[in-house]
Amino acid sequence: MIKTTNVLNDSFGRKHNYLRISLIEKCNLRCDYCMPAAGIPLSPKKELMNADEILKMAKIFVSQGVDKIRLTGGEPLVRKDFADIVKKLATLPVRLSITTNAILADRFIETFHQYGLTDINVSLDTLETDKFKMITRRDQFKKAYQNIQLLINEGFNVKINAVLMQDFNKDEIVDFVMLTRNSPITVRFIEFMPFDGNRWNKSKLVTEKEILEEVTDFFGDKYLHKLEDEQHFTSRNYQIEGFEGKFGIISSVTNPFCSGCNRIRLTANGKIKNCLFSNHELDLLTALREGRDVKELILKSLGEKKKVRAGMDDFEKLNDPEKHNKNRSMISIGG
Ligand code: SAM
Ligand code: SF4
Repeated sequence: MIKTTNVLNDSFGRKHNYLRISLIEKCNLRCDYCMPAAGIPLSPKKELMNADEILKMAKIFVSQGVDKIRLTGGEPLVRKDFADIVKKLATLPVRLSITTNAILADRFIETFHQYGLTDINVSLDTLETDKFKMITRRDQFKKAYQNIQLLINEGFNVKINAVLMQDFNKDEIVDFVMLTRNSPITVRFIEFMPFDGNRWNKSKLVTEKEILEEVTDFFGDKYLHKLEDEQHFTSRNYQIEGFEGKFGIISSVTNPFCSGCNRIRLTANGKIKNCLFSNHELDLLTALREGRDVKELILKSLGEKKKVRAGMDDFEKLNDPEKHNKNRSMISIGG
């Protein structure tokens, strides 16, 4: 039995009980906004956490109050020992969840059911086959879409994440919201964020304000209902009257939600990141392997966490490439 002795507080009084573990740097898709066209330098296998090390790390975090773990990547389902990792983590007193592109989800339905992995976030940026091929550089729309339907039919709590970009999928906002008409899912629109090598530019951004305008223009103001914000929310949620599902907006760029942040990230090569936007990392894996005190490093990292977006507290700072081009690309952080 793991004894919880502490809570992971930062200097702004935020308690961190939610750990996102990236299992892998590789992916079976090549999303344009996530992975640079030339790929990313991959860590040698021996520098990545193995299944036992993932469990050891998770136990340390759980002993410090973490009660929610999300598995991400790269594409977590590409990892050969995925089922073994889930089996190990399922022995901990945590709520387990995953973020995936769903291409391989049909192979893991039993694993998800068996180990209580019920919260499944799936990334899908378009409902059109050709656009899917263009943005992911792979012709896999049908597989992704079928697997999303499968996950819904199997009763999982499915959220669809769509990163919005001007001249790409802004015209699909209403189509995405329509998916929630007869289905108990949540569609979440994500503002396009800047990372190393993803050619972010504010002119590509579709803002929270624009998303709401598109929705109200189509459905009408009086049928759009704002739902109460959840504790530690990232997504501000809405529902169209009479619809079964919901939709939400993750506005990390124009309207950040840092004040309630409870998230810490562990990369596949065992580095802790105290903020998605921070390029500062601390190496926990080497410390674990050398028998040094990992907990101390976790607390040090949290002590350095900035109040808002790694110090980029206004849009101008975020808009300055110098400020974010040293941050790894999203595929190696894990979103
Ligand atoms: N492969 C899995 C997937 O795609 O769901 C998990 C990893 S992916 C890096 C995690 C999330 O990050 C996805 O929802 C993806 O859309 C999001 N993401 C990646 N790059 C992004 C960017 N530049 N801006 C906003 N979201 C991004
Ligand atoms: Fe792969 Fe997910 Fe990044 Fe797309 S968003 S390249 S699916 S890790």
